[in-house]
Amino acid sequence: MSLAGKVALVTGASRGIGAAIADHLAAAGAYVLGTATTAAGAAQISQRLAGSGTGYVLDVSSEASVNAFFEQIKAAHEAPLVLVNNAGITQDNIALRMKAEEWDDVINTNLNSIYRVCKASMRGMTKARWGRIINITSVVASMGNAGQSNYAAAKAGVEGYSRALASELGSRGITVNCVAPGFIQTDMTDALSEEQKQALLRRVPAGRLGAAREVAALVTFLAGDDAGYVTGETLHINGGLYMN
Ligand code: NAP
Repeated sequence: MSLAGKVALVTGASRGIGAAIADHLAAAGAYVLGTATTAAGAAQISQRLAGSGTGYVLDVSSEASVNAFFEQIKAAHEAPLVLVNNAGITQDNIALRMKAEEWDDVINTNLNSIYRVCKASMRGMTKARWGRIINITSVVASMGNAGQSNYAAAKAGVEGYSRALASELGSRGITVNCVAPGFIQTDMTDALSEEQKQALLRRVPAGRLGAAREVAALVTFLAGDDAGYVTGETLHINGGLYMN
């Protein structure tokens, strides 16, 4: 129970990787604030975490929503000392056809959000002289992927931001790392066609999609005391896809 007594904030905890991370951190003893974009999603998180956490509504693409959310939790909880920026979207298109709206939405939700949520969380961690920021990026930030120029740019931006933040916050006992999954079975990858999935799997030595709980285990390691000397890193988890 290495996280006993600590509040952990997980964005996008209603399903997929974020839900698995919220459950894993709660099992490690943290009190988890998990977010969804709807009230129904938030209620379902509270129900799932059953006493070891609470669900909240948060739209990370909106500065007003981020500000309102932090005001709301300030009244009810200790400051989160573990922050997992997991919420993210894709809006794929080849670069030649990429609409400004597709570019802006993905950059705003996947990159600008990280600046907003990290900034709002840093003061509490600095005061406590202990903190863990874990940003969920993607193997696509390192590999590139046709049709995902907006997503690759956003995730690579998050990795650069995280290294700069790690340099700034290291002396305060705060680590900042990224976890970069390959292809993990969630709603995001369920959207791929069977043909796309088979083509992908041919490139994955493990021969399968990853499970959300496998990503969650890595995040929980980074959130614990044992990972205090790991900072400014991107840890890859992709069944061997990236080495090939
Ligand atoms: P998912 O199943 O599509 O779930 C996305 C989560 O993000 C949901 O909880 C959703 O909330 C939330 N969300 C979406 N837009 C939001 C917004 N504007 N504000 C706040 N929350 C928002 O996604 P996933 O596959 O678990 O992916 C989670 C993270 O891992 C993402 O950052 C993604 O880029 C990254 N990733 C995924 C894979 C993969 O193979 N699945 C691979 C590499 C990286 P609602 O339920 O309310 O919509």
